[in-house]
Amino acid sequence: MRRILCVCVSLLNDHRSIMLGSEKALIRDFKSWKFRNPPNYAELPISEDPEYNVPVAVKNAVFSKVPTEPLIGKLHLVCASDDAMKHILDLDPVVAETEEFVDMIAGKYLPEGGLTVCHRYGGYQFGYWADQLGDGRAHILGEYVNRNGESWQPQLKGSGETPYSRFGDGRAVLRSSIREMIASEACYYLGIPTTRAAALVVSDDHKVWRDKSYSGAARQERAAAVLRLAPAWYRLGSFEILLKRNEPHTMRQLADFVIKHHFPNISSEDPDRYVKWYSEVAHSNLDMVATWQGVGFTHGVLNTDNVSVLGLTIDYGPYGFMQHYYRHYVPNTSDDAGRYAFNKQPEILVWNLEKFAEALDPILTDDQKQKIKDIHKTLGGYVKNKIAQTYVTKLGLSELQEGDEKLVEDLLQMMQQTMADYTQTFRQMAELDLSQLSDVTSLESKWSLVKISKSSQWDKWVHRYRGRLEQENVNNEVRRDRMLKVNPLYIPSNWILQEAIADAEKNDFAKVRLLLKIFKNPFEMNEEAEKLGYSSQPPSWAYGIKLSCSS
Ligand code: AMP
Ligand code: MG
Repeated sequence: MRRILCVCVSLLNDHRSIMLGSEKALIRDFKSWKFRNPPNYAELPISEDPEYNVPVAVKNAVFSKVPTEPLIGKLHLVCASDDAMKHILDLDPVVAETEEFVDMIAGKYLPEGGLTVCHRYGGYQFGYWADQLGDGRAHILGEYVNRNGESWQPQLKGSGETPYSRFGDGRAVLRSSIREMIASEACYYLGIPTTRAAALVVSDDHKVWRDKSYSGAARQERAAAVLRLAPAWYRLGSFEILLKRNEPHTMRQLADFVIKHHFPNISSEDPDRYVKWYSEVAHSNLDMVATWQGVGFTHGVLNTDNVSVLGLTIDYGPYGFMQHYYRHYVPNTSDDAGRYAFNKQPEILVWNLEKFAEALDPILTDDQKQKIKDIHKTLGGYVKNKIAQTYVTKLGLSELQEGDEKLVEDLLQMMQQTMADYTQTFRQMAELDLSQLSDVTSLESKWSLVKISKSSQWDKWVHRYRGRLEQENVNNEVRRDRMLKVNPLYIPSNWILQEAIADAEKNDFAKVRLLLKIFKNPFEMNEEAEKLGYSSQPPSWAYGIKLSCSS
């Protein structure tokens, strides 16, 4: 009887795997890959100005209908994300190598059902209202509904001039496109909510002028384009522009649309839907910044136009992953005042969310305004707690208790004093047994722990940490297991990216592709990464790297 049952079960499994196999067949014929027609966003007001490639103050619209301006000359596929191709776009990764696919990224080919639009938004840049910004070099191509029923908006970045280009040329250069491509995918695997990137194309012949270090010495660089992916691209600034231009009708329309299509937990009929929506937007962005703090990610330009309504990390420009722990770390050369320093990012998001609350004013009743104000008052405490919880998890503990914030603060203080590495200190703490943390010989094998243990407070701290683990009954094995899952071995440091960019400038894309592979498993040892020293002490030139906004 048991044997018969087993045979039946195995037949069933075979049948299921055949079913799954056929369900999972990926699309190879790229010409058959189609967008939803029409896209849902066609329900929103779209401006159709025939003079689409001159800067103009757009009115009463959420989008502008604008064709892409193709990259000219000889094109190369720099890299593609297998995972994004397969699991978001249902495309067999071999498609990335085809001429049609490369042409789509170069803005020459639009799949059936596509409708190219640029999004209108404004924003507060470095604390000041900057008025209309918008997609100055990006085009949403359409809406793709994948086999899991998810709706994604593929968007090109670097695809030509639009009504929102202001002083820009509508293009993106190779170095910044590589940075966006790698970081989007790496952040995804690090567990950070983020927009994704599917592929990157560069032209040999399409040149643009850039002054990379703002030194007055502009030079020609090659233009590139990235295919980015997100369920939608709305920013806090999407609503701010509608307040400033006094367009409450369009604001209500956009808010209702965004709730209906992107916030399934909120009923479109709920009279308090805007309050609930505000709360979700706020909390998802604060959850996101807590994940940034956990891995040392610092967004270089955390203006309100670079904050997504969906709580996704968006617009990777002069960002940086902190090398040695330094709480005032600022990766952007233009941020002299350190407005967007590592330790200020949570409070800056709270500030941005205050501007977002102000923007929604015209569509709220007095009672709802008050409710949103009350929510806003709690955000500072919420994010502080979320970050404390993140650190507690990084230390292998399960719950935040009184005294833990001080324990973490003292650890960070020692890191800062000794210039210990932010990523590797946590990782190496996980790799050693607890007893080895205060044993000089064991510590010698871990370069970042050698640094932090130079602090006169280290042994005392380890003693406190041990006591705290005992209190929760966490043994060595459990601690290691937990810590190895949340403390990455590899992060896309600027120096690692710089090396891959230097090769790519010579049309050698092997390292860029290797990075995509390594960052797919940032928590697991990778031999190639080890050979390249990605978890070793970085070269001395790595420490001073800063990036400008030139991109
Ligand atoms: P960012 O701070 O990089 O997110 O960009 C701020 C604004 O400048 C956005 O409206 C961008 O679309 C626009 N922008 C940046 N670079 C260019 C460019 N090369 N051409 C046109 N617009 C650009
Ligand atoms: Mg931006």
